Amino acid sequence: MTPLLTVEGLGVEFPVGNWPRRRTLRASFDVSFSVGRGEIVALVGESGSGKSTIGRVIARILPAKAGRVTLHGPGERDTDSFGPRAGEASMRWRQRVQLIFQDPAASLNPVFPVGHPVARALRLHGRADPKTVDERVAAALEAVGLHPGATFATRYPHQLSGGQRQRVSIARALATDPDLVIADEPTSMLDVSIRMDILRLFTTIRASGTRSVLLITHDLASARLVADRVVVLYAGEVMELGPARAVLDAPRHPYAQLLAAAATRSGDLRAPLPAAEGAPKVIDPGPGCPFAPRCAQATDRCRAERPALTAVSPDHAVRCHLVRPE
Ligand code: SF4
Repeated sequence: MTPLLTVEGLGVEFPVGNWPRRRTLRASFDVSFSVGRGEIVALVGESGSGKSTIGRVIARILPAKAGRVTLHGPGERDTDSFGPRAGEASMRWRQRVQLIFQDPAASLNPVFPVGHPVARALRLHGRADPKTVDERVAAALEAVGLHPGATFATRYPHQLSGGQRQRVSIARALATDPDLVIADEPTSMLDVSIRMDILRLFTTIRASGTRSVLLITHDLASARLVADRVVVLYAGEVMELGPARAVLDAPRHPYAQLLAAAATRSGDLRAPLPAAEGAPKVIDPGPGCPFAPRCAQATDRCRAERPALTAVSPDHAVRCHLVRPE
């Protein structure tokens, strides 16, 4: 598959606390994966696993401490290559990479009708001239299932349901004709009945064959439904990555197995791990495997030596000392 996005060795850290007790929160460490054109890749993990941080670095909202993000295609760029004309390059990056947030109510300005942010995105990125912008807004809203688009464009966010507001957010993101849509927990605040409809919109985006979606979610069911490949994160590190079916139905990493088992036990694939099983240690993490404090199979080696990401098949890799290539 033609690559659209390559993330290599991404590291993100934040200082926490005040001097002399200042410590380091490691939000992401040595994260590498790629997204092909026309592909949906899901980043899955619990809260605090670093998935939203990675999405924000790719969207250039947050800086990285280490590593590189490359957006392939015409005008190929990576996050290290913003030189003297950084403003222009940033604008082009933002046109190519769009972010959809978890809470559509918070991401829409309540004082403007919902056609306004769509029109603004079209104008800002030169996708419509003033004479046709209203028609383009209506078409953009209809493309995400809001009919008639011209009527919806005049409504205010509070006049729409949660699902309709999320559709507006998706219409706004697609208005710039992006190559990559990053959807950060796009269905977590929606009723179960409309989650499927929103997820279907992402498969429609993929159907273009050129646009890709990075789906950030703790919802294994959503990932299983729409993702082509899955990246499992724990404490900011990649634990397992590969084809969605292989990773979600027959996970090899103990953490991925625990996630899948917790979801199956509760009958809810969105279920988080039980709190009693501990939380990821992301502040001043020690050496060794980050999952060792919670892993039933941990050995002295696990606590002392960080496992490498090992390929178990050509497109499937696992970070665990116990896993051997097939
Ligand atoms: Fe568990 Fe060790 Fe594998 Fe880490 S490396 S997941 S601690 S068995």
